[in-house]
Parts: sequence; C-alpha cells; structure tokens
Amino acid sequence: MKIAVIGAGVIGVTTAYELARQNHEVSIFESNGSAAELCSFANAGVVSPGYTTPWAKPGMALHVLTHLWQRHTPVRIGRLGWHDLRWLWQWQRACDSTTFARNRGNMLRLASYSQQRLQALTSRLNLDYERTPGFLVMLRGERERKLAQASLQVIRDAGVSVKTLSPEQARAIEPALNPDTPFLEALYFAEDEVSNSRQFTLMLKQEAEAIGVKLHLNAPIQPLLRSQPTTIRLAPDDAGRSFDAVVMCAALASASLLAPLGLRIPLTAVHGYSVSAALREHLDAPRSGVMDERYKVAISRLGQRVRVSGGAEIGGRSSQHHAGSIHTLYKVLDDWFPGAARTQDNVQIWKGARPMMPDGPPLVGASGVPNIWLNLGHGSSGWALACGSARVVADSISGRKPEIDLTGLGIERLGRTR
Ligand SMILES: Cc1cc2nc3c(=O)[nH]c(=O)nc-3n(C[C@H](O)[C@H](O)[C@H](O)COP(=O)(O)OP(=O)(O)OC[C@H]3O[C@@H](n4cnc5c(N)ncnc54)[C@H](O)[C@@H]3O)c2cc1C
Repeated sequence: MKIAVIGAGVIGVTTAYELARQNHEVSIFESNGSAAELCSFANAGVVSPGYTTPWAKPGMALHVLTHLWQRHTPVRIGRLGWHDLRWLWQWQRACDSTTFARNRGNMLRLASYSQQRLQALTSRLNLDYERTPGFLVMLRGERERKLAQASLQVIRDAGVSVKTLSPEQARAIEPALNPDTPFLEALYFAEDEVSNSRQFTLMLKQEAEAIGVKLHLNAPIQPLLRSQPTTIRLAPDDAGRSFDAVVMCAALASASLLAPLGLRIPLTAVHGYSVSAALREHLDAPRSGVMDERYKVAISRLGQRVRVSGGAEIGGRSSQHHAGSIHTLYKVLDDWFPGAARTQDNVQIWKGARPMMPDGPPLVGASGVPNIWLNLGHGSSGWALACGSARVVADSISGRKPEIDLTGLGIERLGRTR
C-alpha cells in the first residue's frame, strides 16, 4: 500500500519504519526542517513501563490543588479557554480508582510491549543512543509513599519487577545522592532505562530511509478533506497526492488536522521543561534516571550530560518560559546531585508540549474513517510507548493480528466522536 505518515517525531518515525518493514511504500510529511524537533526533542528519556501511568489517578486532584500555591509546584495553571476547562473536567472524571486501574493496565501492557520492541530494534540495528540502565523513584515523605501505593499493586500484578529500597539501599545504587536530602524510601526499576529519544529518532529515520521511506521536510500538511480523506495537500488550493492510507502522528496538531472528518479528539498541550548541562564531575552525577516524586522532576544521565525535566503547565504557551518552573528544576537537581553539572555555561533550556489525552492512554489504531489511522496523544510517555504503538498500528494496517490486546487504547473508548 502507499501510505502517508503525518509527523516525524518519535511516533511518526517509528511508525514509518515498521510500515516499511512490512513492505509498504511510505512517505512521511513533516512541518519542520528536521525530525524530532518538537516534543521528541529533549524529553527526560525515561523508558519505564512500571512508571508509565495516567496522570488521571486517585488523589491527584488534591495533590495538584495543595501544591498549586506553593513556590515549587509541579503543576501550573495558565489562562484557560473552554477547551482546557472541558479537558480538565474529563481528566477529573477519569481520576476514580476503577477508571485509573483500567487505564493503568492498558498503558502498562503497551509500555511493556514497547520496551521489548525498543530492545529488539536496538540490538538488531545496533543503535547507540545514550542509554543507561535502571530508574529510581524517590519518595520524600508519607504523602508520596501513599500516592505510589495506588500503582504498586497494579504494577506487581502485571509482573513488572520493582523493589522498595531503604535510603541506604538507594544510595548504593546512586552513590552521588546528596546525604543532606532526607527521603523515606525509593522504588527501583532495575530493568528500565533512560536514553535519548531524539538521537534514537534520528538514527531510526536513517534506517527507515535506507529501506525506502521518503521523508518530506518543511512540508506542513493541510487539514484532511472529508471528500478525499487520504489526499495529502500542502496548500489549500493544492490538488494533492493521493494515498491508500494515512497515519496521523502529528501529536497536538492531529486534532485540527482530523477535525474536518468529524473526529473530535480531546487533546491538550501540557507543557514541560528540560535543562541539559554538561557533566561537571561524574562522581557527583546520577548513574542513570532518578525521579523526585514530590516535584515530579526527573534527573537523567545522558552520556556526558545531565538533563533535569519536569513541570506541567496547562493553558500555557510554548513561546513563554515560566522562570519559576525552571527554578524548580535547578532546585531539585541541587537537592539530589549538587555539583553534578555545569549549570553556569552552555545550558540548553527547552520547553515542550506533551500531547495529552485526559484519561491517559494514547489513541492507537483505526479512526473509524476508512483508511485513516491514529497514533497520537502519547502525553508524558511517548518515548516509552513509541516502538510498541508503531508496531501495533503497522500490524493493524497490514491486516496482521497485533501481538498485544488493544482494548482501551483506541478511539472506541471515547464513545461518540463523530
Ligand atoms: C518535559 C517533558 C518530559 C518528557 N519526558 C518523557 C519521558 O521521560 N519519557 C517518555 O516516554 N516521554 C516523555 N515525554 C513525552 C514525549 O516527549 C512525547 O510523548 C513524545 O515526544 C510525543 O511524540 P510525537 O511524535 O507524538 O510528537 P512530536 O515529537 O511533537 O512529533 C509530532 C510531529 O508532527 C509534526 N506536525 C505537526 N503538524 C504537522 C502538519 N500539519 N504537517 C506535517 N507535520 C506536522 C510536528 O512538526 C512534529 O515534528 C516528555 C515530554 C516533555 C514535554
């Protein structure tokens, strides 16, 4: 089949690669001048199925409200439009324990499969993208411990390996942890990793091109037409190019690109930041990934750099940086690994927009419109979910049975969207 993939972030590139491996003739259309320029550019790099969780969870609304007025709040609310308010209402409705457990289980299944697919691709193609093994979640106090409990049983029931560590045991895994910062305990995911999603995307893009994928850069597509949904147009008056199928992987832009087909996708931008700096002293730096559960800030070792990421702004704009959010990143880095990074010079500060569904899981699979497929809305876990999502979408398009059950990951769960 002749297939158009829209978007060359980590989701679009992995999708195009899997489709080309299944002998389809694939073209990617990307607005920017390079792949992985938007949300896949400088994320925290955490690949941890056990930590891949909906943000809609029991106790979360209270957690957000109690921190909202604090200086180092993990969540900031900007100017909200009707769209954001509707999204927040849908989010809050998905926070009950039954809905959470269902969404958690569905995301975990996809994330575990994704991790296997990532590992398989990495060893088959011999890719090197700044991987470090292990992921440690720091629980500073009782409140964080209680919130984590809601997830732990689901994780263990699914067979994910996670250990609860005392502070001494955690320090044995990350010896540079600041002895002056107290914490109650830590969760350790030994089989997980942090790694560079942008580097992976650029490497896989090359592999995809080598097996025939055509990448069209600086090619922003127009919203799809109801009369010819599989025709890709680069300008409103363009006659367009016709394909047998289209896979929408344009993250946030997907909602407006699909709207003329009558699809209403409840995506919103949840902005976050990362600060990447060169290592100052590797003995003072993290060996792998460390997450501060109170501030929801991740500290990742990526090769010769340390990256600190976090923050969740709803109703914010990509172009405006909130100094307080960036300050929180420095504070958390300083709490756990003071002196690890050269934060005075050549620091890369990045703001990205997580393409977030209110209930958590992405939309993966058929759209309900013939020959239009979805792979979007991966929120805070697009890197962790990319390789599995790509493979199940490619399998579905090729008429093969996906290797995992896709219940709860498709558009059907939204009810009437058209
Ligand atoms: C601060 C932060 C930390 C994060 N940390 C993690 C983490 O640790 N682990 C994890 O798994 N995930 C993490 N994420 C989330 C992850 O980065 C995203 O889920 C993922 O990058 C989404 O990938 P994507 O390909 O869907 O989107 P994008 O990378 O944004 O790609 C979408 C592409 O579509 C293109 N596009 C848009 N409109 C058009 C159009 N009209 N025509 C053609 N192309 C178009 C865009 O230019 C873009 O390149 C984090 C995100 C943030 C912001």
